[in-house]
Amino acid sequence: MERLRFASVWLGGCAGCHMSFLDLDEFLLDLAGRVEVVYSPIADLKTYPENVDLCLVEGAICNVDHVELAHQIRARTKIVVSFGDCAVTANVPAMRNVLGAKNADNVLQRAYVEAAEANPVKPALDGVLPPLLPKVVPLHQLIKVDHCLPGCPPPADRIKALLLHLLDAAPALSGSQLKFG
Ligand code: SF4
Repeated sequence: MERLRFASVWLGGCAGCHMSFLDLDEFLLDLAGRVEVVYSPIADLKTYPENVDLCLVEGAICNVDHVELAHQIRARTKIVVSFGDCAVTANVPAMRNVLGAKNADNVLQRAYVEAAEANPVKPALDGVLPPLLPKVVPLHQLIKVDHCLPGCPPPADRIKALLLHLLDAAPALSGSQLKFG
């Protein structure tokens, strides 16, 4: 049987959704026999490939690199899943939005100057830090998303239920499986 080309992506998130993915435990072995991992922070591949069948996207859209990668994902992937509350609603990363239009500058000032214990300076060289967007947005505000997997993080059994739905046409998520937080 040809294995499905599988990717996962880490945008503006804490990696908790990927940690929950690893909690799939022995189901990961089943999955390994059915998918080929072609891109993931777990595999540390550098370029998002062509012809991906399924991609789980963790995190909100926070900076210009996220915008570019999200468009690549959509152009090269059949099924895109918003993986966790940050991708679905923007969640924690969007807390900076309440700071207003200048929030990107405020965030950098707070992180690199006010909170610094040594060398309080904002990184200024091109390519060191991707410019932040004025506003953090969920994935579906930038690209079409095929499925949403809520939870912060989604529990492993919920991730498994979605994967079985996509791989084996098992029932779609419903009821408490669609809970946020
Ligand atoms: S949804 Fe929760 S666990 Fe997942 S990246 Fe966001 S904050 Fe982390």
